[in-house]
Amino acid sequence: MTAGGHVTLVGAGPGAADLLTYRAWRAVARADVVVHDRLVPVEVLDDLGEHVEVVDVGKAPGRHKVPQDGINALLVRHARAGRRVVRLKGGDPFVFGRGGEEYAACVAAGVAVDVVPGVSSALAVPALAGVPVTHRGTTTAFHVVTAHTRAGEQELDDVAAGCVTQRAATLVILMGVSALPAIVTRLLDAGASPDTPVAIVERGSTPDQRVTRVGLDLAAKRADELGVRAPAVIVIGDVAAHGLLEGTSDRGDVGDPRG
Ligand code: SAH
Repeated sequence: MTAGGHVTLVGAGPGAADLLTYRAWRAVARADVVVHDRLVPVEVLDDLGEHVEVVDVGKAPGRHKVPQDGINALLVRHARAGRRVVRLKGGDPFVFGRGGEEYAACVAAGVAVDVVPGVSSALAVPALAGVPVTHRGTTTAFHVVTAHTRAGEQELDDVAAGCVTQRAATLVILMGVSALPAIVTRLLDAGASPDTPVAIVERGSTPDQRVTRVGLDLAAKRADELGVRAPAVIVIGDVAAHGLLEGTSDRGDVGDPRG
């Protein structure tokens, strides 16, 4: 190994191997070490040369396999040894992926670091389910939140609740499955309409993708009945209405003066 190792934070997209960007594939192909999360396409790892070291630091929900400090230290250590390190992360590295912390750790250690943006599940998973996060005449903004805060509390901030109650923006929730009952209660208590459309998309872009559409008031009950599991993206707002793009929606843009 020569000097001049570096770290590239690479977004691996939502799950399907062909949703990695071309730049992501090229970075992986040049890597000496690949440090990856749980939610990355296995095909990417199958194609690696035999000399490439693969480290799984993946986290199952609620269980941290390798603590964040340990991941940061690992990246720095390999790069200092002159290796080309790819840190392969689900979706986009800077969307709830702690990529910012990894980037900062490299900078603090004097290690060269760059980013290959990824196709974030926040946008791609709704799209794959036919849910546009904005739609002319229906909604012109979206807000992406996690329901899972550092303190382990599961709640929505006021801005997020306002998106739904005022029909101001589409609300896209990541890591929200276990918090869904609390989210529904919060939104209804804040004055959201019980029939606000909700789309829950599990395992987007994989062969097991499942889309559940339901009104807000029944969302938690229905998710429980169906055994909805992470990973899932929850979309709340008029864009999630069934039939919106087929012109058969009974909500949203039909006859909407904003159109
Ligand atoms: N950086 C990632 C998000 C990491 S947080 C990104 O940009 O996509 C992990 C959360 O992302 C999951 O809990 C789930 O809410 C969402 N997610 C990731 N992949 C998904 C998939 N294939 N289908 C549904 N949700 C997914």
